[in-house]
Amino acid sequence: MPIDATLPYDESNVFARILRGELPCSKVYEDEHVLAFNDIRPLAPVHILVIPKGAYVSWDDFSERAQPEEIAAFVRAVGRIARDQGLVAPGYRLLANVGGHAGQEVPHLHVHIFGGRELGPMLA
Ligand code: AMP
Repeated sequence: MPIDATLPYDESNVFARILRGELPCSKVYEDEHVLAFNDIRPLAPVHILVIPKGAYVSWDDFSERAQPEEIAAFVRAVGRIARDQGLVAPGYRLLANVGGHAGQEVPHLHVHIFGGRELGPMLA
């Protein structure tokens, strides 16, 4: 069920629970501001979710409220993870769903990194 990205942050969402260590994840990367892990239902050979450790509902919320160091850390982490996965030469795709029309399901900002095969047209 897509979320309403204008609602306040819900501390019970699944990624908040992963960040608190209440649920496991298949960790790919972690630093002071960022956690990345494999998507539980991968849609490509590489399907990684990158999330900020701060409580942000979506890209909209993050871009408005996050501190410059959180934003810099997040952007750099996404690039670094893709490089570390060997995705730059073959190519990869980034996706951040925001709210209902995009089908965002988890109300904690996440960027999907897709790679490992030709990814086809941008939208189905
Ligand atoms: P979105 O539709 O952009 O909100 O994407 C949410 C993503 O989170 C989906 O691709 C799910 O497969 C993924 N997901 C949900 N729960 C988990 C979990 N516990 N661990 C890893 N990925 C998850």
